[in-house]
Amino acid sequence: MREKLERLMRLQALDLELSEIRRTLSSVTSELQELETQIGESQTELEGLELEDKEASATRRELEQTLAEGETQIRLKRMRLTSVRNERELQALEHEVEALKQSNQQLETELLARIEGAEQRARRVSELKTLIEQKQSQLQAAQKSSADRVEELKTALAKRHAEREQLLAQIEPHLRQRYELILERRGGLALVAARAAACLGCRMRLPPQLYNEIQRGKSIKFCPNCQRILYFEG
Ligand SMILES: [Zn+2]
Repeated sequence: MREKLERLMRLQALDLELSEIRRTLSSVTSELQELETQIGESQTELEGLELEDKEASATRRELEQTLAEGETQIRLKRMRLTSVRNERELQALEHEVEALKQSNQQLETELLARIEGAEQRARRVSELKTLIEQKQSQLQAAQKSSADRVEELKTALAKRHAEREQLLAQIEPHLRQRYELILERRGGLALVAARAAACLGCRMRLPPQLYNEIQRGKSIKFCPNCQRILYFEG
C-alpha cells in the first residue's frame, strides 16, 4: 500500500515538473510567435498599400491625360478667338474656354490630392519596409538564442515523459485512469496531502473517520469534495 502511494507521489511530482517545463517552453516560443505575427501584419499592410498604389497611379495617368487634352482644347479655342468676327460666336467661344478652364482646375485639384495621397503611401511603405527588416533580424536573433534552450527543454520533456510511462505501467489501470481524470479536471494536481484533518487540495475539513483511515493508510482514499487522492502528512 505504501508503495502504491509512493508511486503516485512520484507520478504527481513528475507531472508538476512536466507542466512547468511546458510553461517555460511556451513562454520561449511565444516571443517568437509574437514577432512572426507582427511581421505578418506589416507584410499584409505593405501588400495592400502596394496594390493601392498601382491602382492609384493608373487613375493618375488618366487624369493627367484628360488635363492635357483640356489644355489643348483651350489653346485651340483661343486661337479661333482671334479670327472670329461675329459677336455671338465670340461670346459662345469665350464661354466654352471659361468652362474648360474651370473643369481643368477641378482636375488639377484632384490630381494634387492624388499626388499627396501617393506621397503619404510612399512614406508608410518605407516605414513598413524598415520595420519588417528590423523585426526579421530580431526574429533571427531570437531564434538563434532560444534554439539551444528549446532543444534542452524538449529533451527534458521527452525524458520525463518516458519516466512517466514507466511509472504508469506499474500502477493498476483503474487507479491510473482515476488519477489521469482528476489531474485533467483539477488543474494538474491529482494527489494532495491531508493534514490537520483537512484536504490541502481544496481546504475542506475531512470527516474524522475518513481522516483516521487516511492516517492508517490501508487503502487509497479520495477527498469527498475535490475527489483528489489523499495521503497522510503528519
Ligand atoms: Zn479536497
